[in-house]
Amino acid sequence: MSNAFTYACRDCEGMEACPASIVAASEVEVWKLIELHAEFAHGEDPADWDQDTRTYLATLIKPVDVRVKEEA
Ligand SMILES: [Zn+2]
Repeated sequence: MSNAFTYACRDCEGMEACPASIVAASEVEVWKLIELHAEFAHGEDPADWDQDTRTYLATLIKPVDVRVKEEA
């Protein structure tokens, strides 16, 4: 069972050389971090992303299973 979502910047067309990847508990959080990363590392303004870009980026967000400490 996956409990997190991941996004690897290098999966994005034109970003093959970027080593950054993001893992977070929800897709909403991953989106936040993608936007922050794009702005910080690539000088992009996420406000400029059109729906096609967001639809494309959404296909790159994958469910992933991250092992966490069990609750006591
Ligand atoms: Zn990147």
